[in-house]
Amino acid sequence: MARYVGAIDQGTTSTRFMVFDRDGLPVASHQLEHEQVLPRAGWVEHNPVEIWERTSAVVQTALGKAGLCAGDLSAVGITNQRETTFVWDRRTGRPVHNAIVWQDTRTDHIAAALDRDGRGDVIRHRAGLPPATYFSGGKLQWILEQVPGAREAAERGDLLFGTADTWLLWNLTGGTDGGVHLTDVTNASRTMLMDLETLDWDEELLGFFGVPRQMLPTIRESSALEPYGVTRRHGPFAGEVPITGVLGDQQAATVGQVCFAPGEAKNTYGTGNFMLLNTGTEIVRSGSGLITTPAYRFGDEPCVYALEGSIAVTGSAVQWLRDQLGIISGASQSEVLAAQVPDNGGVYFVPAFSGLFAPHWRSDARGAIVGLSRYNTNAHVARATLEAICYQSRDVMEAMTADSGVHLEVLRVDGGVTANSLCMQIQADVLGVPVSRPVVPETTALGAAYAAGLSTGYWSSTDELRQNWREDTRWEPQWSEDQRAEGYAQWHKAVQRTLDWVEV
Ligand code: ADP
Repeated sequence: MARYVGAIDQGTTSTRFMVFDRDGLPVASHQLEHEQVLPRAGWVEHNPVEIWERTSAVVQTALGKAGLCAGDLSAVGITNQRETTFVWDRRTGRPVHNAIVWQDTRTDHIAAALDRDGRGDVIRHRAGLPPATYFSGGKLQWILEQVPGAREAAERGDLLFGTADTWLLWNLTGGTDGGVHLTDVTNASRTMLMDLETLDWDEELLGFFGVPRQMLPTIRESSALEPYGVTRRHGPFAGEVPITGVLGDQQAATVGQVCFAPGEAKNTYGTGNFMLLNTGTEIVRSGSGLITTPAYRFGDEPCVYALEGSIAVTGSAVQWLRDQLGIISGASQSEVLAAQVPDNGGVYFVPAFSGLFAPHWRSDARGAIVGLSRYNTNAHVARATLEAICYQSRDVMEAMTADSGVHLEVLRVDGGVTANSLCMQIQADVLGVPVSRPVVPETTALGAAYAAGLSTGYWSSTDELRQNWREDTRWEPQWSEDQRAEGYAQWHKAVQRTLDWVEV
C-alpha cells in the first residue's frame, strides 16, 4: 500500500501542496502566492491560469524536494477557497474572465435586488444562505451578463462553471482531453444554487440567476465512493493518482480538526475568519445571522451539517496595515508592534472593507477606526486590529450559542493568524473560553487528505483520525469579567458606527 496521501490547498492568497503520513504529520510541503488583481474599489480577481500553474508548480516542487513520486501516494484530496467563481471554455480550456473572488463586492446590486422581491427568503430557506455578494450565484450571473457572448456560449453548452476545486479537478484529470467536471456538496452549497436537503442544483434557484444547468458540475460526496478521476500522466504528478477527496477550505479545516461530533467547533484565522459548529445530520436554520452549510459527506453516509459564522476581513486587515498603511513590514510584526502598548488606548477598528458578513450581513457597511485621541500611536492601531479579529469572532460565537444552545468549553483554532500568540491570548480574553491550537496547524490541507484517505482505506475510520489530533498550545482567559464586558460593549458601539455611516 502507498505510504502517503497528498492534498492540494488552493487558498485565497496562496496555493500549497502537502503530503501526510498515517499519523497525519506532514512529510513534504511547498507553497506559492498568487496575484490579487484589484481593478477597482471593491473588485478582487484571480487569474485562473496562474492558479493552475502555481498548483502544478507546488505539486512538482514538494514531491521533488521529498524525493517522492506518484506511486508513493494512495490518493490526493483537494481543498479550496470557496465561492470564487471560474468560467471557462470546455473546448479550449481558456477562462472567459478572471475568477471573481469571494470578497469581491461588484454584485451588490444583484444581492440587493434579491431581497426586494422575495427571492431572498427562498434562498435563505432552500440554500441556507443570506443573499450576499459573497456567494457564487451573483458572480456567475455577472459574468454571463458582462462578458460578450458568454450567455449564448453557456446555453450552447460550451462554457463550464466551477469553484477552484472544479477548475483544478478538470485540469488535473485531462482538461480539454477528457477532464472531469465535478464538485462536492460543501463547495456546491456556497453558490446559492443548491438545495440543502436534496443536495442537488435547484431549478428555481438557477432561474433567479439565469444560470443554464448544462454549465454546472455534477455534485458528489466529499470523500469519494468511487474516485472522481485520476491525475493524468503528463500532469504535475507525472503519474496516475486517484483523486478521492474534495472539501471547501473551511469544511476541510473542520475535518482536519476532527470535529466529527455534534457540538464540536473550530475557528480558522486566515484572510477572513470562519467558525464552524458541527450540528450532525440535522439541518439547523439560523435565527442569528449564521449560515447553514454541509460540513462533509463521506461516501454514502448521510450529509453532516454545520452552522457557520463567516467573517470577511481578519488576517487581511493585518495585510492592510502592511500594504496600505505601511506601519509594519510583515504580518508577524503586528504582534511586536501591538505588544508595545498594554491595551488598545481606547481605539476600536472595525475592518468592514467588504461590508460585514456574519452575523450582520450588510454589504454596504464600510470600515471605521474610532476612539482616537492625540495620545494614540501605530501600536494602538495594531492592537485594535488584533482585537477586531477577536471581537468579530466573539460576535459569531454569541450567534452560535443563541442558535444551538451549545456553550463551547474550548475553541480549536488554526490558520495563518494563529502564529500570533498575542492575538490568541486576546481571543481567550475576549471570549472567556480557552483557545487551543493543534500540533499540525495546516488543518485545511490535512482535512482534504483525510477525506481522500478515508475513501481509499488509507485511514479506516474517523475514530482513527481522532487519535492523530494533539494539542500544541493552549491560551487561558486572563481578563476579569468586567474588563471583558466593557470591551465588548465598546466594540458594539464601534460596529454601530460602520452601519450608521451608510445610513446617513
Ligand atoms: P488563507 O488560507 O486565507 O490564504 P492563511 O491561513 O495562509 O490564509 O493566513 C494568511 C493570513 O494570515 C494573512 O492575511 C496574514 O496577514 C495573516 N497572518 C500571517 N501571520 C500572521 C501573524 N503572525 N500575525 C497576524 N496575522 C498573520
